[in-house]
Amino acid sequence: MARVIAITNQKGGVGKTTTAVNLAASLASLGSRVLLMDLDPQGNATTGSGVSKQGLSRTVYHLLLAQADLPATRVRAESGGFDLIPANRDLAGAEVELVEEKQREFRLKSALAGNLGDYDYVLIDCPPALNLLTVNALTAADAVIIPMQCEYFAIEGLADLVNTIKKIKARLNPGLVIDGVVRVMFDNRNTLAQHVSDQLKAHFGAKVFDTLVPRNVRLAEAPSHGLAALQYDRGSRGAQAYLQMAKELMEKQEGKRHG
Ligand code: ADP
Ligand code: MG
Repeated sequence: MARVIAITNQKGGVGKTTTAVNLAASLASLGSRVLLMDLDPQGNATTGSGVSKQGLSRTVYHLLLAQADLPATRVRAESGGFDLIPANRDLAGAEVELVEEKQREFRLKSALAGNLGDYDYVLIDCPPALNLLTVNALTAADAVIIPMQCEYFAIEGLADLVNTIKKIKARLNPGLVIDGVVRVMFDNRNTLAQHVSDQLKAHFGAKVFDTLVPRNVRLAEAPSHGLAALQYDRGSRGAQAYLQMAKELMEKQEGKRHG
């Protein structure tokens, strides 16, 4: 059974896309079958996976509006070793068009239904907003992973996100859980980061991934080459951190399966 995980945080620039692409490549390198879905009109996960946003005849837009099914929409991210549902600017229109549709929160869930037999993990890279696209992701997902930069305002924003997750759970998706909070762009020497990190642990306990993703320039450079850090510079601290995070995620899954 595929586990569908929404990578979400309504703030922009907090490391969602970096986490989505690098986790996808890391899980794939560990032998998992992975589908990465780009659900942000900016299409950064698409470019970062080495797929050009130009000239795509079908994208996640067509999937959401039921104009194409999943097999017709996915492409192969060769270097990363995973499948990708790409996105481009078209997706910005989907939000508006979906408002008119029946069952608008369930469009993504319906599109995935019956099409996930090929995968162990489906990762959804969410847009930086608690909008209808994110609601679709949270309705389709089994779990959420929240990338967090350990800054002062991060904790404030987190309360809004957790409330949204609670609402979705109550109204649309009773099985939704938080799989984890991952601390990204982490700087050990920063005492504020340490403090926020302690607060996160106090609040989320074991849901905080042990893996710390450091601030690492290789993670920022890799997307411009259309590569995950693992393919760009395998030995870099960033690549190794996401590999470690992938292992941690797989172990959590195993733990749940066995009791
Ligand atoms: P989001 O998807 O939440 O908007 P991104 O993953 O695009 O965030 O990250 C925002 C910016 O920060 C990008 O330029 C990205 O390359 C950079 N970045 C993300 N994580 C790291 C990291 N651990 N170290 C260095 N740069 C990072
Ligand atoms: Mg992004």
